[in-house]
Amino acid sequence: MIKGFIITLSIIAALFLVYCALPNLYARNLSKNVYHKLKPGNHQIALTFDDGPNAAYTNRVLDILKKYDVKATFFIVIKNANKNLSILHRMKEEGHEIGFHSYQHESAWELLPKKTLTEISRGEAALQAENVTFRYMRPPWGTFNLFTLYQAKKHGLKVVLWNIEAFDWRKNQTAKGIEQEVLSRVEDGSIIVLHDSGGAEGAPNRTIEALDGLIPALLDQGYQFVTLEEGL
Ligand SMILES: [Zn+2]
Repeated sequence: MIKGFIITLSIIAALFLVYCALPNLYARNLSKNVYHKLKPGNHQIALTFDDGPNAAYTNRVLDILKKYDVKATFFIVIKNANKNLSILHRMKEEGHEIGFHSYQHESAWELLPKKTLTEISRGEAALQAENVTFRYMRPPWGTFNLFTLYQAKKHGLKVVLWNIEAFDWRKNQTAKGIEQEVLSRVEDGSIIVLHDSGGAEGAPNRTIEALDGLIPALLDQGYQFVTLEEGL
């Protein structure tokens, strides 16, 4: 009885190690095919927004980007995009890059191989009529399983994480806190992750408020905002 339990536990641990933990460690720390920063030397940085589009927030983010004539990259959730097609088209029309975040924001650790291997084609198929093509992907929470990188490569997508996160999704974060987090760590080539949807209740309100201070401050420091296409 106890022996059987230990064997089952060992099998689960081994599967977790091979399917989740080791691929995650490799992708996040060792793989040359996972980008955390832009090409250095050009004083360029990239703003990236995950989890939208969202009817309550994304247009307000787009308004601020427009106000400062700044381009960004949006890693979208297909299910959200389907509900907000006009916002998706606005992103495109205003020159922003659209990247693939996931179909419905499931962690790679929850996805079985078959679902992992069909995520991108499922997403592309869902948006086929909208003429959206993906060149970049960022898996939810930056999690990888054994097939995540393979899937991205098969579809010709570059995998992009970040080197600055402002924890804008946290319950107790503030707009000032977001600004300080970014301003204290920004450097040539930084890829900054923010969120235009999800997180704690109302969290993107603080992100939007922070952007209005953050963007002019970074422009004052001489940084040029680019999309991933321009900066990688
Ligand atoms: Zn996300």
